[in-house]
Amino acid sequence: MSRTSDIDILVSEVGPRDGLQSVDRTMPTNVKTKWIDALAGAGLREIEVGSFVSPKRLPQMADTGDVVRHAITIDNLNVLALVPNLRGAEAAVSAGTHALTMPVSASRMHSQANIGKTPEEAVAEVSKVDALRRNSAGQAVTLEVGVSTAFGCTMEGPVSEDWVLRLAVSCAEAGADSVGLSDTTGYGNPAQVKRLFTRLHAELGEKAGGAHLHNTRGQGLANVVAALDAGVTTFDSSLGGLGGCPYAPGASGNIVTEDLVYLLESMGLRTGIDIEALIAARPIILEGLPGEAIYGSVPDAGLQLGFVYAGQEVTA
Ligand code: ZN
Repeated sequence: MSRTSDIDILVSEVGPRDGLQSVDRTMPTNVKTKWIDALAGAGLREIEVGSFVSPKRLPQMADTGDVVRHAITIDNLNVLALVPNLRGAEAAVSAGTHALTMPVSASRMHSQANIGKTPEEAVAEVSKVDALRRNSAGQAVTLEVGVSTAFGCTMEGPVSEDWVLRLAVSCAEAGADSVGLSDTTGYGNPAQVKRLFTRLHAELGEKAGGAHLHNTRGQGLANVVAALDAGVTTFDSSLGGLGGCPYAPGASGNIVTEDLVYLLESMGLRTGIDIEALIAARPIILEGLPGEAIYGSVPDAGLQLGFVYAGQEVTA
């Protein structure tokens, strides 16, 4: 999580990781890098460019090393990669990744299905990755954790809020620089999101991380506003809401970057991102994945007449 003073909110694009891993087809490497270039060109400061997982499990992510090696050549871009374990972290660090993000699932069933570990084993892996990145000579590598299924699980249903908070504290104690909360399944509602992030800030202080929200049930942007109220300053989103949700046919996945930036800027919160440049980048997704469903209300409707970005109010 890098914070710069000319923006109020850090929008972290996760389409090349969360979006692409939910699509069966594989986007060619040259289209991934073109997409990442366009996102950085639109003003995004942080992109999760892929994950270092077994290519047998997720062949869509087999080229993540190459994608990282390209992305780190872009100026002013914090390059993140998801790593489920120490082995992935070793590959990510040797490729030159700036920041690692590890999923630690609050749901036991989801944790087993996702990374083949219990939540406690996943926390132990965070410690190992922390030791690895501290020993990476001359290279400062940030370590973030996202507590997955923090708002509910498609396999287990409700997840205890106290347990989510205890797990977040364990991850911070295991060495994570920040611990965020992920609504992996799109189960969260605004009251719950505000309550959990408020508690996260009380427990973790400066180590409280960002919000990873999905729009599966249409609550995504309402949940953003609730998280803003709780003091969250980093949000994950995906261009075109790419990815959908394998458990909810026809439903969108991650919150849509174009709509998120529009919401924030229209509320007076600076993101440093050009909405029209984001919209212009959407065809690149379809170039790599012809016919794929992409989402977004602002791209459909266009910017309103007289729209001004935060901090750029016209003085008469
Ligand atoms: Zn997600």
